[in-house]
Order: sequence, then structure tokens, then C-alpha cells
Amino acid sequence: MSFTTLGLAEPLLRAVAEQGYETPSPIQAQAIPAVLTGRDIMAAAQTGTGKTAGFTLPLLQRLMDGKKPSPNCIRALVLTPTRELAAQVQESVATYGKFLPLRSAVVFGGVGINPQMMALRKGVDVLVATPGRLLDLYNQRAVRFNEVQILVLDEADRMLDMGFIHDIKKVLALLPRQRQNLLFSATFSGEIRQLAEGLLKQPLQIEVSPRNSTVASVTQTVYAVDRGRKTELLSKLIRDNNWEQVLVFTRTKHGANRLAEKLERDGVTAAAIHGNKSQGARTRALADFKSNGVRVLVATDIAARGLDIEQLPHVVNFELPNVSEDYVHRIGRTGRAGATGDAISLVEPDEDKLLKGIERLIKQTLPRQIVAGFKPDPNAPRAHDDDERPPRSAPARRPRASGENHSRSGHAPKSNKPHPQQGSQRRTGELASGKHRGGGSSH
Ligand code: AMP
Repeated sequence: MSFTTLGLAEPLLRAVAEQGYETPSPIQAQAIPAVLTGRDIMAAAQTGTGKTAGFTLPLLQRLMDGKKPSPNCIRALVLTPTRELAAQVQESVATYGKFLPLRSAVVFGGVGINPQMMALRKGVDVLVATPGRLLDLYNQRAVRFNEVQILVLDEADRMLDMGFIHDIKKVLALLPRQRQNLLFSATFSGEIRQLAEGLLKQPLQIEVSPRNSTVASVTQTVYAVDRGRKTELLSKLIRDNNWEQVLVFTRTKHGANRLAEKLERDGVTAAAIHGNKSQGARTRALADFKSNGVRVLVATDIAARGLDIEQLPHVVNFELPNVSEDYVHRIGRTGRAGATGDAISLVEPDEDKLLKGIERLIKQTLPRQIVAGFKPDPNAPRAHDDDERPPRSAPARRPRASGENHSRSGHAPKSNKPHPQQGSQRRTGELASGKHRGGGSSH
């Protein structure tokens, strides 16, 4: 099948061809014709399936012939959980819409609001936003919703996990009743289904990979190792196998920093990316990683959400996630769009329970390996293994209010206060003048 059979207009086909895409991915093959007919969609799809083009291409086509937006009005709204994902979705909108006379903009917290207000002034065809900042802009009368024709909730499960349900409901109440709704989520919990029921009208349900399954093109391996020797083993694996572009997940922001520092000391270039870093620092770290300036990017789950790094070859779970579904999200970073990938988990004896939970969820037993010289010693006292421990002055586990270490198990923060991930607490000069302002662009 080729893109030309999906009913897309020439300027969109040209943009797709320019990206070098030859065949639509399964979600694109199903979503594009359906969105073009104007119907609602509920899609189970992880990052890496091509879902962004799956909703962006038909959305742009539906907007291309209509009336221009009035001042401060928007015609399509895409809500995403994190600033990184918002920025990446808008990049896709700009890429796929480059031959169309449509304007797009992105707004998120953590950066100055004024450039965003300016970008909205003339009206915008497609606005990509995180919920908190969108409501701030609405309250300041910088954005109006009366011309919204299409709403996309991207990574809806993550938005609920991050406590955005109240903000989402507030936004929904402000939108015109008559509109097209597209809901994308990697997993479908009861809460998501409830949201979908109130939102979608006779939706087409699309499921491209079975729920909570992992991508077949990803090789998954577990390395058993003692707690205190994970950094050493990781450094060895990276160097012995000549891995480039390794995304490493840690459970805490502190752990991410410490690991990046240790790898650097060991001669492996590394940067950490997490919610405590300024937007400028996060953008720089990602850019360095993408351009192969640093070999390893160490990230927490929330910070890594939505990172669009093409064909990322290696994903490492330095620690297993507390929530099994996060394992599926994490390894979805590799083996994307037809490429093969390698997902490695460094597992200490204490993490056995977490590993079993993951294996139950993905319905697979993961192959275990031991690297010579790194065999875990069942009798090794944990007190000797301080390698992965934070220094005594820092708390071992930051409270969840930090916005990281969230959980799907019902303990997630459910507040309608601006989430730290929205960064509304960060309005420093550095950020306000940061390169990644989240302003508008027309194309
Ligand atoms: P997404 O799931 O939207 O995050 O997309 C994952 C990656 O796949 C992105 O880097 C896209 O550029 C790429 N991609 C999307 N559609 C296609 C396609 N039909 N063929 C090849 N690559 C694609």
C-alpha cells in the first residue's frame, strides 16, 4: 500500500515523500481515511507506531480548505502531556504541513507566556498544547475556543497519570459541542474508557499492537547484576559493543544525574534529562544526543515521554520501573517504524518481583544473561553496595510531588494545580530567554 491510496491531497503527499516514507504504518493506514471522513477515533497506539502522522496528515487536510481562524482563535487543538511531546508534535505539524498555508503554534509551561500570546494573536490553525498552560492562556483571554473543529488527545493515558484529568475536563467544557475528537492512548484503563465514553461519538476503534504488548522487532534481554555494579556493567556493555545513542532509564532524577556523571567520568559521554532541568538544558541535551554529540541520554520516565528520536537503537532500563506498563512505554523508544531495536534491563536480585510483574504483563519470559565477572552474589550485603545510592545528604526517593516517579496504581497526583512538569514554577530569566520558547510558526 502507498500513501496515494489513502485519499490525501497532493501537498501532503509531497511532504510525506520528502520525509522518505514509502508505506503507511498500520495506524496510518487505518486512521487517515477514517479521520478524513470526519468521524471520531479511539486508537490504542504507542509512540513509534507513526501515530503522529496518523492524525496530523488528515487533520491538516480537513483544515486546508476552510476559513482562516479569527484573531486568537484556533481550529484544531492537540493536547499532549509533556512539553517535549508538544514540541515534537508541532514539529510534525510543521513538517507535514509545509506546503499548506496553515499556521501552527505550540504552547507549554516553563517558558515565557508572552511569545505564546503573541503567536496566538493572529489566530492559529493548529495549536499543540499542554493542558495547564492552555488554561492559563485561556484565562488571560489569549486563546478562544469557539472555532475549534477538531480535538486530539495524544497520549491520554499519560495525561491522566500526570493528574491532568481536571484540566482536560475544564478544556472540554469550553469547546464547541460540534467537533471531531481523536483519542490516542498507549493503554486503555477503566479511567481512559470512561473519558472516551463521555467524549467520543461512535468512534472507530483502532488497535495496532495488542494492548500492553511489546514491539516484535525489539530484542529484549535481562542482565542479572549486583546492585552496586550496574554502572560498571553498563559502561562495559556500551564500550565493548560500541553502542551509540543509548537511552537509559532511571527511576529518579537524582539517579539520572549521578549515572550521567559517572559515565562521563568513565569516558562515556552522557547527559541527563529530567523535570528538574531547565527547558533550555533539556532541549540542549536532546539536541546533543540526536546529533551524536553525546552517546548516552539518561532520562526519567516522564522526561522521556514522547522523545522522538528516530531509530533509537538501544534502550536500557538501569532500574526496572515500578509500574509494569512503563516498561512497555520505555522499550517503545526502540524498534520504531520498522527498525530493529535492542532493549536491555539491568536487574538486581531485589528487582525480581518487578521483573515478574513485567513478564506477566507482556506475557513473555525475558531471556536472562550474565556477563562474565558480573554474576550477582546472592549473599552480597546491600550495605556494601552504595554505588547507586544518593549521597547521604539527599533523600533516597523524592516525594511524588516532584512530578516524577508517578504511578498508575492509583497513587498518582490527581490535582488540578499546575503540574511541575508544566514548569509553571520556572520562570527564570534563563528560561524566558531560552531558545525553545514554544512560540508559533507559520508554514
Ligand atoms: P510516532 O509514533 O508518531 O512518534 O512516529 C515514530 C517515528 O516514525 C517518527 O520518527 C516518524 O518520523 C516515523 N514515521 C512515521 N510514519 C512513518 C512511515 N510511514 N514510514 C517511515 N517512518 C515513519
